[in-house]
Amino acid sequence: MGPDSPAKPTPAPDQEENSSSPTTALLSFDTDAYSSNPSHKTSILFISLTLITCIALSAAFAFAFLFFSAASSSAGVDSTARALTKLKRPVVILISSDGFRFGYQFKTSTPNIDRLIANGTEAERGLIPVFPTLTFPNHYSIVTGLYPAHHGIINNYFLDPVTGDAFTMANHDSKWWLGEPLWETVTNQGLGAATVFWVGAEVKKGSWSCPVNLCHHYNQSVPFEERVDMILQYFDLPSEEIPVFMTLYFEDPDHQGHKVGPDDPQVTEAVARIDSMLGKLISGLEKRGVFEDVNIILVGDHGMVGTCDKKLIFIEDLAPWIVIPDSWVQSRTPLLAIRPPPDISLSEIVSKMNEGLQSGKVKNGNRLKMYVKEELPSRLHYSASDRIPPVIGLVEEGFKVEMKNSKRQECGGAHGYDNSVFSMRTIFIGHGPQFARGRKVPSFENVQIYNLVTSILNIKPAPNNGSASFPQSILLPSS
Ligand SMILES: [Zn+2]
Repeated sequence: MGPDSPAKPTPAPDQEENSSSPTTALLSFDTDAYSSNPSHKTSILFISLTLITCIALSAAFAFAFLFFSAASSSAGVDSTARALTKLKRPVVILISSDGFRFGYQFKTSTPNIDRLIANGTEAERGLIPVFPTLTFPNHYSIVTGLYPAHHGIINNYFLDPVTGDAFTMANHDSKWWLGEPLWETVTNQGLGAATVFWVGAEVKKGSWSCPVNLCHHYNQSVPFEERVDMILQYFDLPSEEIPVFMTLYFEDPDHQGHKVGPDDPQVTEAVARIDSMLGKLISGLEKRGVFEDVNIILVGDHGMVGTCDKKLIFIEDLAPWIVIPDSWVQSRTPLLAIRPPPDISLSEIVSKMNEGLQSGKVKNGNRLKMYVKEELPSRLHYSASDRIPPVIGLVEEGFKVEMKNSKRQECGGAHGYDNSVFSMRTIFIGHGPQFARGRKVPSFENVQIYNLVTSILNIKPAPNNGSASFPQSILLPSS
């Protein structure tokens, strides 16, 4: 715990109160009854002004002292990356807690997350997922630095427009998985990588053969404790055999968030459990004397928002304008993706649907807007792939699209919405030798993480959508 003293913010408000109250008192004293004798009045005025000056000066000095001492505790000590004490080369553990909405860390006591934040670098208002804010597209963007249109996993489920083949979340055929994930980049450069689950990790690509003992096949029933132990065991290997890049994945609190919505005590309990798993990891690393040497990057893939049965939009309600057959709809909610037969005009479908939605006659119609994909806001980066169906609907947060009115009653949680929606944000915390202690950085998109990891590991990145200069804005310069 020794070097983990968090940088405390400057206690400025107290200073201001202390210096202002006596000043106010002296001024009111001067304007009152003590003014009959002019020389007496002058000396009182002189004393008062001297006192005011003294108090103001001492307040200024105290303020300056506190300001500079606070600045030095976060920047002075950490002006360059800290040297490794035990490990031979930098190691990154990339951890994902699925559906960890930004702000969940305030729901309950999270001493281990707090410790990583206090002694590491945090995206102060969360990490921005890519669109669509779904598990597979986002996890694969984190490890490739590519937007879904470029890494190919454009949804959790989709159809190949040419062959009609279906991609499902259990598919490990490399034809679907484009780009170069971090484990491949690492092994391409002669270093070791290990995956205790991650989206796409079991796909054999280039020099990555998903080797036994390093690439663990996804199994939801493996207890979280065991997953942490699998990571810790790598640190018992001889130094040169320790993988330099490891992934660790937890399904929670996404699971609970879907079932009961983000504001249920079950989510709070799941958050506490994730925190205790981080505690187990931290103490295991400490026991091996490597906690301060390892770079831990803690992220989620997306956030979560409450949904309820009154916030539904029924496609059948559009029948007076246009009938959309089930067979055209490749994904329904929150990402409505439509691929009509080739002979039907896309712009006509979009304009008829929007006409109905905006007519005021379709329940919640104004909460859904249809686009030909090339006309989606460019910030979504969601058009440059044939796999993306040509007509896309953007639904407002918390609303859901259904084909028919089923009168089904359900309340829970969902994600997949526009990535500019705050509820879709997740967390980013970096802790380790190359992260400044107690530093806050502005929010950024998760496609930046690929370059961040290659920069920490000092390896050559594959081309990607992240910015080459981004790591410099987050990491400490090497000493
Ligand atoms: Zn989910």
